[in-house]
Amino acid sequence: MKKTYVSPTIERNVIGLMNKHGHGATSPVCDRIDGVRTADLLKEHGSPLFVYSETALREKYRAAHRAFSKRYASVQFAWSYKTNYLRAICQVFHQEGSIAEVVSDFEYDKARNLGVPGSQIVYNGPYKTRESLVRAVAEGAKIQIDNLDELLLVEDIARGAGRKVDVAIRVFADCGIQPVWSKFGFQYETFDAYRAIKRIHSGGKLNLAGLHMHVGTFILEPNAYRVAAAKLMFLAEVARKEFGFEVEYLNLGGGFASCNTLHNQYLPGEQTTPTFDQYAEAIVDGIHSELPSGQIPPKLLLETGRALVDEAGYLITTVRAMKRTAAGQPAIVVDAGVNLLYTANWYKFNIRPAQPNPGPPVQTMIYGCLCMNIDVLREQAALPALGVDDAIVFHPVGAYNQTQSMQFITYRPRSVMVCSNGTVEVIRERED
Ligand SMILES: *Cc1c(COP(=O)(O)O)cnc(C)c1O
Repeated sequence: MKKTYVSPTIERNVIGLMNKHGHGATSPVCDRIDGVRTADLLKEHGSPLFVYSETALREKYRAAHRAFSKRYASVQFAWSYKTNYLRAICQVFHQEGSIAEVVSDFEYDKARNLGVPGSQIVYNGPYKTRESLVRAVAEGAKIQIDNLDELLLVEDIARGAGRKVDVAIRVFADCGIQPVWSKFGFQYETFDAYRAIKRIHSGGKLNLAGLHMHVGTFILEPNAYRVAAAKLMFLAEVARKEFGFEVEYLNLGGGFASCNTLHNQYLPGEQTTPTFDQYAEAIVDGIHSELPSGQIPPKLLLETGRALVDEAGYLITTVRAMKRTAAGQPAIVVDAGVNLLYTANWYKFNIRPAQPNPGPPVQTMIYGCLCMNIDVLREQAALPALGVDDAIVFHPVGAYNQTQSMQFITYRPRSVMVCSNGTVEVIRERED
C-alpha cells in the first residue's frame, strides 16, 4: 500500500522552554486552575468541564480600564454579552463597573433580568425588533442605529413617544484593515454616515448623542483604532458645526485581540497581541488629533469582548480512546467536540495534559467526540504519550464558545467558576 505523504511542520517551542523572547511563564502541565486541582474539578463536576477564573476576569478588566482611564478622563466599558453571557460572567463585569452591550431582543431581556437599567444598555445589531426598540426608547437605552430603515423606524417610535430620542449611528470606514466590515452601519467615505446625520437633523425626532464604530475582531494592529477614532471625531465635529448636535460619546466598539494564537501565527499570542496600553494610546491619540482646541473631549465607550474574557476560560476534557491516523500519527478521541469549541476554527489553543505524563511530546491529532469527520480539535498538538482517562486542558477558551455552543448530539456540560476566595461554584448546570 502506498504511504500517505505527511508534510513537515514547524511548531513553536513548547511553552515553558526557552525561545528568543525568553522563558514562557506557563508550566507544560495544567494540574491546577487558580490553585484548584484539575483532577478534583473533574471528580466533582464531570467531564468535559468549562472552568472560568473570577480572578482572571477581574484582573483583565482592571488592566483594560486602567490603560484607558490613565489617559482619558471619561471612559466607560460595556460588556459585550454575545462574547459570553453566562450570568456569573456578566455579573462580574457589572460589579467591576461595566454597563451592558447587547445585540438582540434576547440579550436585551437578559441584561434587564440581571438588573441592568435600560439607560445602561448599549443596543447594537443589524436587526432590532420593533417591540424591543419601543422598550429601549421608553427605558432610555443607548440605541446604535445600523441602517436607514432602522433610523426611520426609531423616528416613528419617537413620534409615538412624543419626545426627542437620543441615538447613535454605527459607522464603518477604511481603517487599514482588510476586508473592511461593510455589513454594519453607514459608510464614512461615501458620505452615507454624513447623510444619516443630516436625516436625523431634518427629521427632527431624534438627537445625535453618539457615534459608533467596531472595526472588526481580533485586530492585531492598534493603528486601526487611531484611524477609527480620528474619523469618528471628525464626524462629530461636522455634526456639531453643521447641525448643532453635541455628540456626547464616541463608541469604539470591541475587537482587541486576546492572547490566543491564530492558526497562521508562528509566535504564541502572548508575544504578539498588543497590550491594552497600545490600543488605548492609539484611540486617545486619534481623538485628540481631530479635537479642536478648547472643545471638551467626548465620553469614550468601549465594547471589548474577547480580550476581557478569553483567558479566563478553560475546557477540561478526558481522553476516551487512542488511535492512529492513516499516516501513522498518534491520535486521541476526547469527550468534547467542536460543538463546544467553536473557536478551534481560528485558534491554536494551548493544550496541556492535566497530569504529568512521561516521555517526549509527540505531534498528536485530537479528535472530538462527534460522529462527524470535521470534528477535529487540533491536527497537531505536542503532547506526551497519553492514555485513556488522562485529561487535557484547552486554554484560552473563554470567548464565544459558550454562546455559540450547539446541542449537537450531546448534552452540553457543566460550567464552574473558581472564585477569588478559592471556592468553586456551578454557574451553568449540565444539560439533561
Ligand atoms: C461582537 C461585538 C463586540 C465584541 O467584539 P470583540 O471582538 O469580542 O471584542 C463589540 N461590539 C459589537 C457591536 C459587536 O458586535
